[in-house]
Amino acid sequence: MDPEAFVEAVWHDSEVETFRRSLLDWYETHRRELPWRGDVSPYEHWVAEVMLQQTQVSTVVDYYRRWLDRFPTVEALAEADREQVMELWEGLGYYRRARYLHESARRVVEERDGELPMTADGLEQLKGIGEYTAGAIASIAFNESVPVVDGNVARVLARLRQVTGDPTSTDFRNVSWAMAGRLVDPDRPGDFNQAMMELGATVCTPTKPTCMLCPVSDKCDAFASGDVESFPEPVDRGPRKQMRVATAVVLAAEEGGQAVLVRRRPAEGLFGGLWEFPSQEVDEEGRPDADRDDELGRIFESAISGETSPSDGSIQSVESVGDLQHTLTHIEMTIDVYVVRLESKAVDLAKHADEERRWIEVASLSDVAMSTAMRKVERRALSGDGGSTSV
Ligand code: SF4
Repeated sequence: MDPEAFVEAVWHDSEVETFRRSLLDWYETHRRELPWRGDVSPYEHWVAEVMLQQTQVSTVVDYYRRWLDRFPTVEALAEADREQVMELWEGLGYYRRARYLHESARRVVEERDGELPMTADGLEQLKGIGEYTAGAIASIAFNESVPVVDGNVARVLARLRQVTGDPTSTDFRNVSWAMAGRLVDPDRPGDFNQAMMELGATVCTPTKPTCMLCPVSDKCDAFASGDVESFPEPVDRGPRKQMRVATAVVLAAEEGGQAVLVRRRPAEGLFGGLWEFPSQEVDEEGRPDADRDDELGRIFESAISGETSPSDGSIQSVESVGDLQHTLTHIEMTIDVYVVRLESKAVDLAKHADEERRWIEVASLSDVAMSTAMRKVERRALSGDGGSTSV
């Protein structure tokens, strides 16, 4: 069935009106006080919405405050260099979000004199802003009557009308957006959308929703049937990909301390644009998947084999300090950690045509943006700490 026709059939005009009123009344008194609610600029809404993609509210609050202290305006963000931006994002994950936010801020300043587009269609032209984020910014910051559907809203909608089917399918998605479009309040779209998200986040939770406190339970088919948690249907994500990586923390003595080698990951892909200790994928036995025909390749060879006599003669010692587990949404990583000590920086590993590499002081490691996985490696290699984590 056509999603619009389905939604039209299951939501009558009179119900829609009372649904909006009940939800908005509840939101007035129950909404959480969050730093991006109230009188904030479109840029601030934009930052919040991008941070909130795939990240929980409780985690975002501190990042959001720190970000706005450092980049209070879109102009300030546009002027920042990539290193500062990535540094501030460190630990939030999904680093492409930071890169796109930065690139789009530059575009907004260069092409639009710092003014964000005021419609969802216009906002979607900016990198990193998809249908959900565009709808959220346009409705909240510019009062455009457009719906939003995130995971929380989709769950509420599915329960309200007992929508079945694979939640990741196009059909399910189309029905959700059509239903959100039918329900959104044309006079208060921003409040309405935030109220739907708030209801999903605080009352209509994935498990054990508190239906007795729900302002729209009289309109909810799943509640009426007593079968709330069957909607939406569970998603089968399949097992996580297993990945094994060897990471070498390469240290070299230098005047007054120690230097450590770091390199920047490619802009696209896992941990894109972040700095890391040189790492390479290895097979189940811990052997490199591909040979590297350069100095770093020889260092990996020495580290993995435990041999300390490479041709250049600069390796003082290699030490395996065990492995670490790191869990991402789709990947289960095992990281074999090695500490490699060089007599000096005589073999200049930082020089490489295809990769950005640097020697930095060990004490300055906190100044470069690294993934949580690499911070665990740092703790294990340099202070004997580090364990398992999930992000
Ligand atoms: Fe969700 Fe329960 Fe409210 Fe229905 S009654 S919308 S299941 S919290």
